[in-house]
Amino acid sequence: MYLEDVDKVVCDDRLELEEFIAIVSEILRRGGVDKTVAVEVNSERAVENAKLCIALKKLGVRYIPVSRGFAENTFVPLEKLGFFDEINPSRYRVFADTEELLYRNWPTPLVRLPRSSVAGRIVWAKLEGFNPWSMSVKDRIGWYMYRKAAEKLGSFQLGLLVESTSTNTGLAIAAMCNIHNSKLRAYIPSTVSLTGELLLKIFGAEVVRSPKPLTVDLIDEVEAIAKTEGAIHLNQFYNDANFEVHLRYTAKELELQIREAGIKPKAIIGGLGTSGHMSAIALYFKNRFREIKIYGVVPAQGTTIQGIRRIESGMKWIHHVEIDGVMDVTPDEAAEGVIEVARRDGILIGLSSGAVYMAYRKLVEKGELDEGDHILIFPDHGFKYIEQLSKYINKPKSAHHQT
Ligand code: PLP
Repeated sequence: MYLEDVDKVVCDDRLELEEFIAIVSEILRRGGVDKTVAVEVNSERAVENAKLCIALKKLGVRYIPVSRGFAENTFVPLEKLGFFDEINPSRYRVFADTEELLYRNWPTPLVRLPRSSVAGRIVWAKLEGFNPWSMSVKDRIGWYMYRKAAEKLGSFQLGLLVESTSTNTGLAIAAMCNIHNSKLRAYIPSTVSLTGELLLKIFGAEVVRSPKPLTVDLIDEVEAIAKTEGAIHLNQFYNDANFEVHLRYTAKELELQIREAGIKPKAIIGGLGTSGHMSAIALYFKNRFREIKIYGVVPAQGTTIQGIRRIESGMKWIHHVEIDGVMDVTPDEAAEGVIEVARRDGILIGLSSGAVYMAYRKLVEKGELDEGDHILIFPDHGFKYIEQLSKYINKPKSAHHQT
């Protein structure tokens, strides 16, 4: 057995989502791999365990354990595979361009919110609003889906891209288009704020507003337009690069942050839109730390909160992973959550983050969260929602929030 540079090993096979999830679960549960990838006698082409090889590449390891001719049973831990090496922030924060500003600025901050914590259930917030383009978790998928499409095409210039978006994914893709000389046409549903539309236009995207209320309502239409016009539809709702980027970076960096903080979180709570980030976090942490609970957050029946939506409106990855519950939050509660966190800990978060915070409060009230540390994934920054928040500024706190 020897460790081969990941780029030298050729593994051409197909790996379906279910197979990928099964292999990744095993790797994460064991904390490494327990067999090698067999390569040909005189080349680095995989002849056995090629699917393991693909999965390792998708996870962003630096080395693949290989053996000549036949696979061997031998255990290689994650650290030896260089599994965590990619999380490599710029020490003095100097960046070659705004693309590097994205991926070499990770991890996004994990910050304790002592004044927003209640009843001994300590809140740690992962602030995805610290991503530079859309100031949201969606920069990660805009970047990765674009890169994967560019790799496939052999060029970073992709021409026209079309995408159904509730602003954030659109901003992220628009940024990649600007960096690489392509063009985005964003299709936005009726519920997107004027601020969102203007931001997309400022980023140079052409914007088409639909009378339909949800991004998912527009997918088929956008797919048809892509076919007619020969445009690229990255399609955040079905593109596995969405799920994979969060496994490879978001979840992995969160493990490193938890280690540095010296905490053993009891639960992770986050919003569900495409379900990309929370499905990856669920898969990762349920396998790495068996005891941890994972909760998703959605808007209450019949309401909308920008960025998140009901599971029954159609989601891909969440159905392939294990979660402990889904919490309903109303738009009023989400806005109150934003204002409460701003006034308690002095940080401005977006409405879906406010919803995540209120879900935490509800879980505490229901007695579902044990004492200890809890991680809330806050998907975006609050600047986009100032107008929506304005009517809550002078409202007295509801009884629900008084502690
Ligand atoms: N919150 C906001 C503000 C978002 O823009 C999104 C995604 O659009 C989400 C939450 C949900 O993230 P995901 O699509 O990974 O489920």
